[in-house]
Amino acid sequence: MDSIEKLLLENKAWANEQIDRDPEYFMRLSKIQKPEFLWIGCSDSRVPANEITGTAPGEIFVHRNVANLVVHTDMNLLSVLEYAVNYLHVKHIIVCGHYGCGGVIASMSNDLHGFVDNWLCNIKDVYTKHDEELNSMESLTERANRLTELNVMEQVRNLAKTTIVQQAWKTREIEIHGWVYGMANGLIKELCTYKGPKDSMEDIYRYNL
Ligand SMILES: [Zn+2]
Repeated sequence: MDSIEKLLLENKAWANEQIDRDPEYFMRLSKIQKPEFLWIGCSDSRVPANEITGTAPGEIFVHRNVANLVVHTDMNLLSVLEYAVNYLHVKHIIVCGHYGCGGVIASMSNDLHGFVDNWLCNIKDVYTKHDEELNSMESLTERANRLTELNVMEQVRNLAKTTIVQQAWKTREIEIHGWVYGMANGLIKELCTYKGPKDSMEDIYRYNL
């Protein structure tokens, strides 16, 4: 059996298992989507949102890209964000990076990796903002780990700068969380939480709402 056939077979087994446990499971799930969380994570296959948080289908609305970036011209992310905030009414937005992130490590080198380098340039910008701290670290791993954390915190700030989040904050509570996942121990470390514009940014980014 080839690997793609195995996936389809496993799917049948999984669907049957769910129905055995709860005959109404799919019927219920297909009728309504009301997740409390929007997850913005890395595309890395080792960091699956549901598995590492012990949540089930229907509980987390997920967007993933290389190195969990929030780029203000990314229509894909902005569309997901607007839908999650204005239609699903999520209460929490989580940006979750992970140590050992290939995107972060690639951004620290001067090598050419292809088209992705243009995307990773956003992380080089984060490096430049904190180059004094990062350059003072001797080990490459230590520097990459810290850049991973700084990158997550920058993306949380980027979320807070969007018109979508600021308009939502005007009328209700939404928390934005910066997390980093440790692949070596499976644990999530909390880095920051923003509960409103006062937590997060300089005046220039605030809109008169
Ligand atoms: Zn990654």
